[in-house]
Amino acid sequence: MKNHWDTVIVGGGIIGHSISYHLSKAGADVCVLDKGTGGRRATGAAAGMLGVHTENRTPGLYHEFCVKSRDMYNELQTELYQCSGIDIQLTTNGMLQIALDEREAKELQEKQQSFPSLSWLDDREMKIRHPWVKSSGALWIREDGNVKPEKVAEAFKRGARSFGSTVKDGCFVIRIRKSGQGYEVTTNEGEIFAERIVVAAGADSGPWFRETGLPNPMVPVKGECFSIKPRNLLFQETYFSPSFYVVPKRDGSIVIGATSREGDGSESTSAGGIADLMDQVFRVFPALREEPLEKWWSGVRPGTSDGRPVIGEHPQEKGIFFATGHYRNGILLAPATGKLIQSLFEKGTFAKKYEGLFSPARFQIGGVYEHTR
Ligand SMILES: Cc1cc2nc3c(=O)[nH]c(=O)nc-3n(C[C@H](O)[C@H](O)[C@H](O)COP(=O)(O)OP(=O)(O)OC[C@H]3O[C@@H](n4cnc5c(N)ncnc54)[C@H](O)[C@@H]3O)c2cc1C
Repeated sequence: MKNHWDTVIVGGGIIGHSISYHLSKAGADVCVLDKGTGGRRATGAAAGMLGVHTENRTPGLYHEFCVKSRDMYNELQTELYQCSGIDIQLTTNGMLQIALDEREAKELQEKQQSFPSLSWLDDREMKIRHPWVKSSGALWIREDGNVKPEKVAEAFKRGARSFGSTVKDGCFVIRIRKSGQGYEVTTNEGEIFAERIVVAAGADSGPWFRETGLPNPMVPVKGECFSIKPRNLLFQETYFSPSFYVVPKRDGSIVIGATSREGDGSESTSAGGIADLMDQVFRVFPALREEPLEKWWSGVRPGTSDGRPVIGEHPQEKGIFFATGHYRNGILLAPATGKLIQSLFEKGTFAKKYEGLFSPARFQIGGVYEHTR
């Protein structure tokens, strides 16, 4: 049985499978290992927003990376359908970043100055165009939308398989150690060998930083959500505020999130968390209160100490790469992360442009960390 691959990816969430898809499409020999079924952890909990502008206050390199990743979904939806048969349910109905008081309205109007493609709707226009929302105005973000995260992860997984990659679900990575020019990976199913390792283990990535001599930058941030299945769909746009978001999906349900509990890596959903969320949402969207409740759930966002993903090669252990720490933007950033790892392997121009922004070296003592957000 085969036990040697060019690249082994630890973690089969949306990030691991996007990397596998991009590498195997380019002809690489890849194996993805997941201790569970893959796509069920943070990826399965996500609302799927492609919120480039809700996640950036000003333009800059990080914003540019977000735009590139969001735009990659336009081509990926057809490409992934062709090789996997899965519709990733991309919607491009736009997003509204809503202001709940005058202070937030002022902040959003200032933000609009930095992004001329966005437009400001004052409270009067909101009452006419979005009468179901009680707000003090909103930024209208026409280009941003959402996808169905577990569908994207599954489509990347099947797509990568169609290009020859291997997936081992139920395969827990216990240890990684140097072996000749490459690495030996100890799993519950035995030893596997690889020239390169990519750690894409989401919120569980911390030990792999420590094991390889880097400070652990990972910060788990639990998030809780619920969904409703409205009898009549009032709207198709996504609404986003600092304390909650309302995301209509193409299958007719509306995902509402999310609580934010920093340092909490547990996976249970608290009644109080959902009750607080409902309270905030129904004050602003009273029309949703009577709609049928569908389900509730939670997940752990893979945060980092500086809020930025870690995508790049270990500064000392050549051949070990990290692709983790995507916090609340892993769905948005999955396509560009796959492309960035592929470009790092090939020493391409995409990598030259972005590698400094996400380098793991920034966490070592004396590491250089430069970016503009
Ligand atoms: C409530 C909530 C809402 C969110 N909403 C959005 C959103 O709207 N838009 C957005 O862009 N992002 C959103 N996110 C963030 C997004 O979900 C994450 O950034 C993204 O899913 C991270 O993907 P990942 O593949 O790194 O991690 P995961 O999906 O957690 O995958 C990591 C995988 O690694 C495996 N693994 C770990 N350790 C090992 C090991 N030792 N051996 C083998 N396998 C291992 C796990 O089993 C898991 O399957 C949200 C997150 C949450 C929790």
